[in-house]
Amino acid sequence: MAHDTILVTRSSMPPFEEYVDEIKRLWETHWLSNMGEKHQEFERALEAYLEVDDIALFVNGHQALECVLEAMELHGKVITTPYTFASTTHAIVRKGLEPVFCDITPDNYTMDPSLIEDLIDEDTCAIVPVHVYGNLCDTTAIEEIAARHGLKVIYDAAHAFGVRRDGVSAATFGDASMFSFHATKAFNSIEGGAVCFADPTLRVRLDQWKNFGITGVETCEYVGGNAKMNEFVAAMGICNLRHLDDELAKRRVVAERYWERLENAEGLRLSKPAQGVTSNYAYMPVVFGDSFGRTRDEVYNALMAQDIHARKYFYPLTTDFSCYEGRFDSSATPIAADIANRVLTLPMYADLALEDVDRICDIVLETARH
Ligand SMILES: *Cc1c(COP(=O)(O)O)cnc(C)c1O
Repeated sequence: MAHDTILVTRSSMPPFEEYVDEIKRLWETHWLSNMGEKHQEFERALEAYLEVDDIALFVNGHQALECVLEAMELHGKVITTPYTFASTTHAIVRKGLEPVFCDITPDNYTMDPSLIEDLIDEDTCAIVPVHVYGNLCDTTAIEEIAARHGLKVIYDAAHAFGVRRDGVSAATFGDASMFSFHATKAFNSIEGGAVCFADPTLRVRLDQWKNFGITGVETCEYVGGNAKMNEFVAAMGICNLRHLDDELAKRRVVAERYWERLENAEGLRLSKPAQGVTSNYAYMPVVFGDSFGRTRDEVYNALMAQDIHARKYFYPLTTDFSCYEGRFDSSATPIAADIANRVLTLPMYADLALEDVDRICDIVLETARH
């Protein structure tokens, strides 16, 4: 029997009528961008959901990250991880900062805090860790080190929307957290992003930086860019947020099926939520150890042959990108380099049928037997 193509993800969308209803008002106001009603309503809804006092919206997560680095007026070196999406490293480099790469832990693929202090020198200004796959960083250890050395901590929380540890929202950690609402994320507004931040004085600066640095009707005090979220996008976010808890419950069922089918397989390492963590089930990473008997690429190809598109997330490391050739050294982060060669993220989305999960697991497990 022929099966449909299965991609690694499939964007959640609200019922069509609900979205149309949400945007109807825009035909009365004719206010389509520049912090209109929907933008304000989306900000308030997100503050409630993420349990934060302040959030600033952006056109996407990447611009949100660039903007917060700029608004904090950082200069010098930033300790970060190469085991991430292009955006994290690019944002640091594009803002004229120098990334210094810290290795990850083999347990949850986030920055290893025991390695941070050796990387700090007098030019270090900040730490930019990533909550990879929604696995939370060791925020306590990272923030203790940062406090001791007077460094800012800005989390790339693009994967961690809605994640909580012991009931505390991940959006409250550090000096700031960046979220992405890109179509491929567990929560989307088509494209979109946000920054949550601890210092309330950042609010005005972020709002000005994302609007050309304009500070008044006839004044412009910063050389800002344009990174505003428009009203149609905010309306999509408002609708998707209403359905998010249902979507996450469906993702959970999918995740549990994967774990049940794969957790006893020799040589496979799964990424289950840590004790006390409420997950968003954003991704289904599997790391293939030597005892699995087959490489990650062999499994990837076996799935592709059945039109199932898993992704090698995160391969290559950002330090191995050709745009950074000769500049960074991925042998300085051996664990990240090893995981990047062994990891595959399997298809994961709310509407993924359990029969398809079973079929994917069968292919993965059979690859080892052949
Ligand atoms: C998606 C993502 C980003 C960038 O977000 P956009 O909204 O696509 O700009 C940054 N970091 C990580 C880890 C991501 O997965």
